Amino acid sequence: MPGGVEAMIPDAVRGELTAALGRAIQFDVSTAKLTSLRVGGIADALATPADRAALARLLRLCAKHRLPRRVIGRGFNTIVRDEGVDGVLIQLAQLKMLEERPAKLLRVEAGVSHATLARFCRERGLAGLEFGVGIPGTLGGWIAMNAGIGTRELQDVVRELEVMSPAGRILRSFPRDALRFRYRALVGFAEGSVVISALLAVEISDRKRVEDESERLLAKRRATQPVDQPSCGSVFKNPRGHFAGQLIEAAGLKGETRGGAMISPLHANFIVNTGGASASDVLALIGHARALVRLKTGIALEPEVKIWGRGAPEERAS
Ligand SMILES: Cc1cc2nc3c(=O)[nH]c(=O)nc-3n(C[C@H](O)[C@H](O)[C@H](O)COP(=O)(O)OP(=O)(O)OC[C@H]3O[C@@H](n4cnc5c(N)ncnc54)[C@H](O)[C@@H]3O)c2cc1C
Repeated sequence: MPGGVEAMIPDAVRGELTAALGRAIQFDVSTAKLTSLRVGGIADALATPADRAALARLLRLCAKHRLPRRVIGRGFNTIVRDEGVDGVLIQLAQLKMLEERPAKLLRVEAGVSHATLARFCRERGLAGLEFGVGIPGTLGGWIAMNAGIGTRELQDVVRELEVMSPAGRILRSFPRDALRFRYRALVGFAEGSVVISALLAVEISDRKRVEDESERLLAKRRATQPVDQPSCGSVFKNPRGHFAGQLIEAAGLKGETRGGAMISPLHANFIVNTGGASASDVLALIGHARALVRLKTGIALEPEVKIWGRGAPEERAS
């Protein structure tokens, strides 16, 4: 095993997974290729089920063998530790249906990327989702994170959600009223539930207006965020009444580095990979920023980014 870490999926179970999924499962996969910061160790397995039935089969197998498994979108909000991650990562890239429905609705499957969705809306002059043009990822990641900008979040446009139960046995639709969105979270489902698709509300507009609004939002982002460098977006959630970036900047941490990781001089809530960063470099910066902000202000910053993998959290001002 790379890095000397032992894989947790026994050969017999690997055989069973391969028999069930064929080429849609790979073993010992680098997570640096699956996450936008381009850091991280090895995942025991990566599955890209061809359809819902294959996904259900996979979830049942994971439950049967008690394999840990997580859904990963495009990894724009995820860091995997250098020690790697146990079990199966599931990418729903093959669930990519996107279609217009009556009554100004879109049915969007979890694997549809933000870029595809933005293009679809632009070409048809459909408004309402422009706020997502600069939020990279998949519909599944958007929903799980209740992704958004200051004025608008996914919860504003979701009308219904289709969710598969953790062990792949039940597929149910939930109307908007039954969903509990929070700041950068969707709660209330059993741990390990999988978002399969959503109905999103749009407005009939025209192509030019949708393009202009999208371009306005992108230009604002380009001026304030390091969009051309590998990052995972905002590292910390904004504490009530504060902006995490301002707190980190006030602690004097803009431009702070650990190895190849740097707190962006453009936006202090972004950590960028300047080349050759490891997950440990990034986590050391996260721990340092948390500790220093806490020391100076008493405020405990909470990561927005999901941190997965083997090993213990670090928090130390160094
Ligand atoms: C430059 C940049 C700018 C960003 N700007 C913003 C912003 O303005 N606002 C904002 O909110 N975010 C922002 N982000 C963060 C990121 O774009 C969002 O969090 C996005 O929703 C991540 O989508 P993803 O598919 O890559 O999710 P991933 O990082 O792959 O996963 C994120 C979480 O969602 C879960 N998940 C993914 N798919 C499913 C599914 N089908 N079912 C259940 N759980 C699932 C994962 O298990 C994980 O817990 C930014 C990131 C970058 C790099």
